[in-house]
Amino acid sequence: MNIWDQEYECMSRDELGQLQLERLQATLNRVYRNVSFYRKKFDTIGFEPEDLVELNDLQKLPFTCSRDLSDGYPYDLFAVPLREVVRVHSSSGTTKPVVVGYTRQDLKHWSELVARILTAGGVTADDVVQVSLNYGLLTGGLGLHYGAELVGASVLPTSVGRTERQVTIMQDYRTTALVATPSYVFIIAERMKKMGIDAKTLTLKYVMLAGEPWTEEMRQEIEDRLYVKATDNYGLSEIMGPGVAGECLYQAGMHLNEDHFIVEVVDPETGKRMEAGEVGELIITTITKEAFPLIRFRTGDLCSLEYQPCQCGRTLVRMSRVLGRTDQVIIVKGINIIPSRVGDILEEIQGIRPPCQLVVERADYLDRLTLLVEVSEDLFFDKMGEQRSLVDTIREKVAGGIGVTPRIQLVESGSINREEETAPGVVDRRKLSQ
Ligand code: ZN
Repeated sequence: MNIWDQEYECMSRDELGQLQLERLQATLNRVYRNVSFYRKKFDTIGFEPEDLVELNDLQKLPFTCSRDLSDGYPYDLFAVPLREVVRVHSSSGTTKPVVVGYTRQDLKHWSELVARILTAGGVTADDVVQVSLNYGLLTGGLGLHYGAELVGASVLPTSVGRTERQVTIMQDYRTTALVATPSYVFIIAERMKKMGIDAKTLTLKYVMLAGEPWTEEMRQEIEDRLYVKATDNYGLSEIMGPGVAGECLYQAGMHLNEDHFIVEVVDPETGKRMEAGEVGELIITTITKEAFPLIRFRTGDLCSLEYQPCQCGRTLVRMSRVLGRTDQVIIVKGINIIPSRVGDILEEIQGIRPPCQLVVERADYLDRLTLLVEVSEDLFFDKMGEQRSLVDTIREKVAGGIGVTPRIQLVESGSINREEETAPGVVDRRKLSQ
């Protein structure tokens, strides 16, 4: 299996820690000197860049939130003068767009990191890479594009849309690797079917999925329908765009480029660091970026980290797929629950994703969780025995998956009332009664 940058991707964890510390110290000096937002934040807590002597000291620093980036619109958080910025991207923010700048060196790093991820996903100089992501102010298209060129692949910048033409190009130009969002890959697959094209006759080998959360079931379906290996990758425009982390062909979590980013997973409520393997909010500190460095940026994405070495030989930490967003989390009996996770479990049990709803109540100071699941009419009215065993299975599997045992209520198809919902799929009565 190919590795783009053996030296950094397979570095010993000790050496990596040392490198991170040096780069972090340099970054803190840079932001303290050049970004008034950070100077003020550090001054408020009486922190000077020299106070950071080990990596753990990073926890003393406050988080940077999406809101802070919007407030800095457009250029307040830049750490270099505009004359040193050679590219600007932007994305929607909390109140105003987030504007991100890149120096020449930032762009060089960006292409390198995307090249790592494409290589991990199977791409080599022999491939023809079709980039079906938006080219423009968003980071996806151009980010992937330059990384693929650096690998030496032949790049087809098809962008999104005109799906029939995309399929024709895939066929005629003999595309071997496709980069797209999961939903767009499904649109392409459907169109292929309509056009009467058998995916087996194509030369496609790899699909790199980016830009939206997706599931293991979707991976399976994409691999089966298109006869490809599909890998996940992670990036966000505030940090750089694509290139932050990407899966290798072992498909066992995304290798995160830790020589450029320091990551932590914290409890979204308390901000306290969590153990490896626990699900929490991903926090990223950039340690090589010149134009737009960010310290402890709250991504709002929920995931877990795995530090065990991967079979591919890379020593970089692996992050799980993004399991949800922090604003979707509900806390029951002190445990963070991601509602969509419950849907995943039901899908595992029944093979389909039935409509369901979580109801949280509080009685005598205790939280109580009820899961309503819609079932088909014949099961609902006729098969009491089957109903009981289904209830038991759901209770057991959901409890094992989320850490809280819910009361299970099977309800008639179409009977769940969505009007009361306080968040998609959730009725939090504790909030309603406040
Ligand atoms: Zn690996």
